[in-house]
Amino acid sequence: MDQVSHLSARGLWKAYRKGRGTVPVLQGIDVDVEPGEMVAVVGASGSGKSTLLHVLGLLDAPDEGSVAIESQRIDNLPERRRDELRNGTFGFIFQFYHLLPELTALENVLMPHYIRHGPLAYLVRRGALRRQATELLERVGLGHRLSHRPSELSGGEMQRTAIARALSGEPRILLADEPTGNLDAATGQGILELLRDLNRERGLTMMMVTHDAQIAQQADRIVRLVEGRIEEWHPALM
Ligand code: ADP
Ligand code: MG
Repeated sequence: MDQVSHLSARGLWKAYRKGRGTVPVLQGIDVDVEPGEMVAVVGASGSGKSTLLHVLGLLDAPDEGSVAIESQRIDNLPERRRDELRNGTFGFIFQFYHLLPELTALENVLMPHYIRHGPLAYLVRRGALRRQATELLERVGLGHRLSHRPSELSGGEMQRTAIARALSGEPRILLADEPTGNLDAATGQGILELLRDLNRERGLTMMMVTHDAQIAQQADRIVRLVEGRIEEWHPALM
């Protein structure tokens, strides 16, 4: 099993400026995701779920508080180190896939490598990287869709492509923001099962935001964001 990671945050505060005032979003968040654990995050629309995920994944900075992996603080590292963590340690999946429309599925999966290595170093490694990307697309069930563009894929296939792309940097922590939010129930369930399998087979630590109680219940644990804070949540309460 791959190396697994413990993700934690302490005392996270974040507010957005609005006109002359500020809108408080995170108001003292403490949260832990154990190594290899899959945690679902629920909460009303606008409760700060995406903000929390972005702060944990270093896509956004908190006003106060800290984020750590294996108890090592990561949010205050130099920009270069944070870039490395965003590209290597974390993988991200979004509700609307964020695929590049003019690229094929294979090229979308290769894109993070292209950006990370630059065109020349990418060319040198292209053979190995294409093999790895092909294997990932096969793993998510898209071995027969390598040269399709997003417009030629179904919603579920686009999300599978985005999952393969998220795995291309061999992340230890996967952050998923409403990964089934744009899919019908059966397709969403297929995506959840794929994420669950990847969580188990690679020991991926996972935090997944979802509106869907059926989806949330399949995680190891559910937390809810209420008034800027985290509370443990139980399916019977949903
Ligand atoms: P959720 O994902 O739970 O729906 P978000 O984290 O997206 O909630 O947003 C939480 C609150 O912060 C909302 O009130 C939203 O309008 C506000 N917000 C989010 N991003 C920004 C931003 N970049 N600028 C200003 N306000 C924002
Ligand atoms: Mg959101």
